[in-house]
Amino acid sequence: TNAGYPAPPPPGADSYLRLVWVYPDLLSTYGDRGNLLILARRAQRRGIPVQTIEVRSDQALPAAADIYLLGGGEDGPQALAAQRLISDGNLHRAVNQGAVVFAVCAGYQLLGGSFFAKGAKCAGLNLLDLYSDRGPTRAVGELAGDIDPRLGLPPLSGFENHGGRTHLGPGVSALARVTTGIGNDESTEGAWRGHVLGTYSHGPALSRNPALADLLLRWATGTNNLAPLDDTWSDRLRAERMAAVRV
Ligand code: GLN
Repeated sequence: TNAGYPAPPPPGADSYLRLVWVYPDLLSTYGDRGNLLILARRAQRRGIPVQTIEVRSDQALPAAADIYLLGGGEDGPQALAAQRLISDGNLHRAVNQGAVVFAVCAGYQLLGGSFFAKGAKCAGLNLLDLYSDRGPTRAVGELAGDIDPRLGLPPLSGFENHGGRTHLGPGVSALARVTTGIGNDESTEGAWRGHVLGTYSHGPALSRNPALADLLLRWATGTNNLAPLDDTWSDRLRAERMAAVRV
């Protein structure tokens, strides 16, 4: 169903921004799907027509969409999602054509070369030069960091919950330097290369970080002229969480 979503565009319309929610049946554990709603809403409020497409893991991914979103997941669904994305192949095709990918936690880990799930090493998609192993503790709690200055964003504010640790290779840049929490390895958090960006920041990632949502929209639309929006509520949430982590 499409309940709560913008109406799909008429057949043949190709001027829509196409947002793909990848595998809601496997990668939707922490309400990360809210990121889809936020991107759709922020685009529509700028007058950009949007099509949201939810693709279950038994369906083929479209190769020609603009933004692909991958959420968090428990180990079993995460391993299955990686296998199906590898055999599908269209996420690779989309990235090669310049599509934007925003991936959270399990979705982020599976973009690398390998990750651990249920004690077993699993092949990832090799879309980012990184791999994940298991850490000594589970990382649960507030996550904050100073974002790579080249991205021109205010500090990242988020919440993390993962057992994995992620190690970056030379072909990828850290999204942020950790100021609170663990992120990849207690020093860096997330990764990006080109238009592919991953983070350990969960469910409310884009509601807490509207500037990050707008970065993804700028990448996808190729325009730097997005009208400012009223982000009072996001700003309040950010201020509240940032104050909480300083205590
Ligand atoms: N299963 C992965 C881990 O624990 C990812 C968890 C998640 O998406 N929150 O590291």
